[in-house]
Amino acid sequence: MSKKKVIVVGSGNAALCAGIAALEKGADVLMVEKAPEQEAGGNSRYTAGAMRFVYNGNEDLMPLLLNPNDEKLAHTEFGAYPKEKFQQDLLNFNGGMPLSMHQHILIDQSYDTLKWMGEHDIRFEPIYSRQSFEKDGKFIFWGGLTLEAKGEGVGLVEAEMEAFKRLGGEILFETAGEELMIEDGKIRGLICEGPKGKMEIQADAVILGSGGFEANAALREKYMGGNWGKSKVRGTPHNTGKGLEMALAAGGVFHGIEDGCHAVPMDLNMPNYGNLEIPYIERKHYRKICYFLGIMLNADGHRFVDEGENFRNYTYAQFGRAILNQPKQFAWQIFDKKVDSLLYSEYRFWDASFVEADTLEELVGKLEGVDKEQAMKSIQEYNAAVDQESGFDPTILDGKSTKGLRLNKTNWANTLDTPPYKAYPVTCGITFTYAGLKVDDKAAVLDEKDKPIEGLYACGEMVGGVFYYGYPGGSGLTSGAVFGRLAGYSAAESKTS
Ligand SMILES: Cc1cc2nc3c(=O)[nH]c(=O)nc-3n(C[C@H](O)[C@H](O)[C@H](O)COP(=O)(O)OP(=O)(O)OC[C@H]3O[C@@H](n4cnc5c(N)ncnc54)[C@H](O)[C@@H]3O)c2cc1C
Repeated sequence: MSKKKVIVVGSGNAALCAGIAALEKGADVLMVEKAPEQEAGGNSRYTAGAMRFVYNGNEDLMPLLLNPNDEKLAHTEFGAYPKEKFQQDLLNFNGGMPLSMHQHILIDQSYDTLKWMGEHDIRFEPIYSRQSFEKDGKFIFWGGLTLEAKGEGVGLVEAEMEAFKRLGGEILFETAGEELMIEDGKIRGLICEGPKGKMEIQADAVILGSGGFEANAALREKYMGGNWGKSKVRGTPHNTGKGLEMALAAGGVFHGIEDGCHAVPMDLNMPNYGNLEIPYIERKHYRKICYFLGIMLNADGHRFVDEGENFRNYTYAQFGRAILNQPKQFAWQIFDKKVDSLLYSEYRFWDASFVEADTLEELVGKLEGVDKEQAMKSIQEYNAAVDQESGFDPTILDGKSTKGLRLNKTNWANTLDTPPYKAYPVTCGITFTYAGLKVDDKAAVLDEKDKPIEGLYACGEMVGGVFYYGYPGGSGLTSGAVFGRLAGYSAAESKTS
């Protein structure tokens, strides 16, 4: 039997897992990546490489670790992240909907997929600095997210690329997938635009791993609504939704919550796209998510969210959208000296945008683009409504709230009364889109009648219906790896007619 010829579109985590899996099953794999080599790897390279998966105790993690003999491990308690917990974490963001088939696949195949990555020399390290605390000489992990790829997102993509090439995979950079070649409802190949112009590449199957449409303002407006055209983009400029458009033209179906996305408050003056040239921690410095320690005012001078609704992990990915929905798509975050030392380090980064003053009146005078009179009124009303009886404690939901406002602040409501006062201008930065193509349990792209389009598969951000109104951190990469592996196996093993 002749070898299956598979084209993989994109070179992020999902595409690379698809390529490795297809090669493992004996296919010939050609990857086409739109970006030049130094910008390849998609949003996957912008990440911390943190991956969420089911595990039942320390022993499950040992086969995944770069250094399983590290002495520190004897003093580390990873706890467990059982299937039921992952299910609940996803359900919390489903807006009342039950878990989808795709979410079950993500959860059920998460651990096996991580182990499989380990077999291909992709190694992980405990996230001691951000996901554990030290107690009685032990490192105790919390939150179910315990491991990140060696070398974060950049290291993850490098290790996957090495595995892909070791198995015989080939890649063409600066080569964009433009149109699917389709005959009698079956995929026959892909038309690409490369450095030497257009070319037709024949194949038995095409796997789309070309990311979401978050970097395409026109598509954001089309699917998500007018204001989304104005959002900034936190990651790669190359995820412009071409894969989605190709698949829709071939009969695929758009699936998921149309405007579903991960979007967070970001420095108003951040560049329009992310920057890979700076280290990961610094790359995050445009993020501004300490609103829970103060208040946010819009251009009309009004507060518009309950800044203390919940711990920031549960609100930050939704508050980007809230800011986008305000007049002129910006807001000011306002703090006083009492909380200054609690603001995350990115608020002190050398190019953070902010204004400062010794009185509230002076500060309000410096809030560019804001109705000053209403802003002053909102601050005074807020200050007068703060419950002075309860104590402030940012480590718990302290219940220190405002009373009687049109929009109360539920926790951490401190009076703004101690100079100097600082205000930071913020806007919305989109991380990635949640809606995409409808696929079946083999990652095959489905048509309107829920019938697989022969030879067409999708993975990663391209798959709709994995996330709806939010997501537990670290699930994006896992989803890419799970559906990538599935797509690779399916494409290599499918029967061709
Ligand atoms: C700043 C930031 C931090 C994040 N942190 C985390 C984290 O710690 N953990 C986590 O799980 N998730 C995180 N995410 C989300 C995560 O990045 C995504 O869920 C995941 O990387 C998506 O992988 P993917 O392979 O589907 O897409 P991508 O990695 O984006 O890859 C898509 C690739 O397709 C290419 N492409 C696009 N169009 C074409 C075309 N027409 N032809 C050829 N190639 C094309 C692109 O250039 C790109 O290389 C973060 C995202 C950002 C932006």
